[in-house]
Amino acid sequence: MQVVVLGAGIIGVSTAWHLLERGHEVTVVDRQPDAALETSFANAAQISVSYCEPWANRDAPLKALKWMFRDDAPLLFRPQWPWGEGWRQWRWGLQFLAQCNDAAFERNVQQLVALGAYSHDALKEVVQATGIDYHRLERGIAHYYTEQKSFDTAGDAAALMRRYGVARRVVSTAELLEIEPAFSAFAHRIVGGTYTASDESGDARVFTQALARRCAERGARFLYSHDVLRLEKAGNAVESVTIRARPGSADGQTGPQAKHLKADAVVVACGSYSAPLLRTVGVDLPIYPGKGYSATFRLLKPGRAPFVSTIDDEVKCAISRLGDELRVAGTIEVGGYNLSLDTPLARARCRMLARRIEEVLPGVCDTRMEEEGGSPRFWAGLRPATPTNIPFIGKTEVGALWVNAGHGTLGWTHGAGSGKALAELISGKVPAMAFGFYGFEPARSPKGLAAS
Ligand SMILES: Cc1cc2nc3c(=O)[nH]c(=O)nc-3n(C[C@H](O)[C@H](O)[C@H](O)COP(=O)(O)OP(=O)(O)OC[C@H]3O[C@@H](n4cnc5c(N)ncnc54)[C@H](O)[C@@H]3O)c2cc1C
Repeated sequence: MQVVVLGAGIIGVSTAWHLLERGHEVTVVDRQPDAALETSFANAAQISVSYCEPWANRDAPLKALKWMFRDDAPLLFRPQWPWGEGWRQWRWGLQFLAQCNDAAFERNVQQLVALGAYSHDALKEVVQATGIDYHRLERGIAHYYTEQKSFDTAGDAAALMRRYGVARRVVSTAELLEIEPAFSAFAHRIVGGTYTASDESGDARVFTQALARRCAERGARFLYSHDVLRLEKAGNAVESVTIRARPGSADGQTGPQAKHLKADAVVVACGSYSAPLLRTVGVDLPIYPGKGYSATFRLLKPGRAPFVSTIDDEVKCAISRLGDELRVAGTIEVGGYNLSLDTPLARARCRMLARRIEEVLPGVCDTRMEEEGGSPRFWAGLRPATPTNIPFIGKTEVGALWVNAGHGTLGWTHGAGSGKALAELISGKVPAMAFGFYGFEPARSPKGLAAS
């Protein structure tokens, strides 16, 4: 089969790899000059099968309300005017609210763990087959708490995960420091934590770009620096994809003429931009951008930096070591398609990341801001967020049109498995996992999302 994959983030490239494995002919289109230059570029690096709780939980509405006026809040809802495209944010917000109860939370966790476990196996298979080196650390993921009230609920969350087969355990501060001694200077603030030894971390960008090169070596065609303009339908099936080379790119030199790509199957894996693209053929999925930030710092004292990837519960950030650098990333801002790092709000969030790292790991990294002579690398990405945090993987109601998008906070964790699962579906097989594939199970229609 000839398959066109739209998007060369972790999801599109994994899909391409697994399609090639099954003997398909693959073309990948992306507007950037290389793979993984948008949301898969500088994330928190965690392969977190066990830390997969969706943001939508029973406490989220009250917390979001409390945090609405705090620039450094972990979850920030920035309301858009409800006219124009703004109403989509309100609709998404209402669907999110409908997921903020215990029954929906547990149902969503079950799906996320199932996909996570399947994906972790798929990632190990790809690494074994390709030997890609991406600063991988198989040291587990730890989570520390600084507030007793939050730590008191850690046991329930760990028990829930264990019910679905993930060995997350509650640990005392002393045990946590044995697992990761790098946090000893912050020990006086830590009241306890949890730990899952089977989780891991590694650089999503390095992995995705290397896998894209392996795909090209196996015959996949990559059309980088091409915008996907729209999908074209004939009857109720997708007939072609309209693309155009970006001005200044090698193909764009001859003039910005649109081209039409035809294929037996088209996969939309454009992250947050999947939603507007799919709407060009009437497929309306609740995927909305959730902006997050990361900061990458040079290590000054590598011997005192953590190896175990860790979640800081108070500020909802993750800390991961990537070779001789430390990445800290997190927070979510629901406020539209805006990637700016240069607004007062963005600057406040970036400064918060640097301040926190200095507080938790004093003197370990160069956390000075640029104006102080430092060279931190700040970055923002738009998580393709769904109200449930469960991605849409499967076939749409438009013939020959498939989707692999909406991976929210977990696209790196779920990347390898989502690619493998969609390649299986396109090849006529149903993957062996307890997961509601879009278009294959009525409960996973967007309307089903709002039900609790
Ligand atoms: C701060 C932060 C921290 C995170 N931490 C983690 C973590 O620790 N673990 C984890 O599992 N996940 C994490 N994530 C989530 C993860 O990064 C995303 O879920 C994942 O990168 C999404 O991958 P994707 O391929 O769907 O999207 P993308 O990587 O954005 O890829 C989509 C591609 O489509 C292309 N595209 C879009 N529209 C068009 C168009 N019209 N024409 C042509 N090309 C187009 C883009 O150029 C892009 O390359 C984090 C995210 C953020 C923001």
